[in-house]
Amino acid sequence: MDPMRRHPVGLARAADQLWFGPAGVVTRAALRSAAGIITPVWCIGCAEQDEVLCELCAEDLHLLTRAPFAAEQQALALPLLMTCETITVLRVSAAGRYEGLLARAVLAFKDHGAIGLGAALGPGLARALRLAAARAVEGSDPASTGSRPWLLVSPPSSLRSQLTRGFDPVQKLLSHALASGSPPDHDEPRLLPAPGLLRQTRAASLRSLNPAQGRQKTRGARARRRRTVGSLELTPRGHQMLPGAEVLLVDDVLTSGSTLAELYRVLDAAGASIRGAAVFAAAPGPGAESEFPLVRASPEA
Ligand SMILES: [Zn+2]
Repeated sequence: MDPMRRHPVGLARAADQLWFGPAGVVTRAALRSAAGIITPVWCIGCAEQDEVLCELCAEDLHLLTRAPFAAEQQALALPLLMTCETITVLRVSAAGRYEGLLARAVLAFKDHGAIGLGAALGPGLARALRLAAARAVEGSDPASTGSRPWLLVSPPSSLRSQLTRGFDPVQKLLSHALASGSPPDHDEPRLLPAPGLLRQTRAASLRSLNPAQGRQKTRGARARRRRTVGSLELTPRGHQMLPGAEVLLVDDVLTSGSTLAELYRVLDAAGASIRGAAVFAAAPGPGAESEFPLVRASPEA
């Protein structure tokens, strides 16, 4: 078995310690010079050469993700939750807006999986997860949080993504997030990564191999939704673990919400209780300039 899958948190923590610890200075310098010899590297923020993310841009990234916010108003395809009296939309908490430096960082991380970027993005997702959990238990009886951990479920990466990237970006980001966050307080739920509960249906996997169909972010919302519905199914492990489980959904980017809607549909049908969702970045909706209550912390590099 792949050791990454068994100990995602432990490995990420070890990687972070190596990266940020005393040995990290030497390691980073060595990696940088090695990478620089093979191929020149530019900062994704300011295009300075030699580092994938320079210290100033890392600080900007931190500032842009330090205040997580409610992002569900922008995503029109999110599932509606109906009780006898109310209709609400699935609550999604985001660390930052999917634009500028954040968008470049997410894309560079997904395409290259750069270890430094994972460590820089992780804390933002950790803050979004914490807000998502806090909003989920808000106003409810502390006892209802229960002692069982909440499962963190993300969309399985497509066959195309596995073939081209060789790793699952969201799971990797999640392991960085959990390694960077402080342990939960006594009244906060424990969060447990639960990969491997869902998979793409065979038809969706094959579809993802067609490069013209793989660009989710560039498709219209309606086409995206049509393509996403029915694209996921439970694995045997999912059948075993999901009935009755408390779940938080996790994804890297929120656009229309159709991916989270499909996750919700499958998990709800499996008998899981979905308490909310956390994403690293939320794409502003059409004409949404003033909708997010986010203070721009620093001018965009
Ligand atoms: Zn920079």
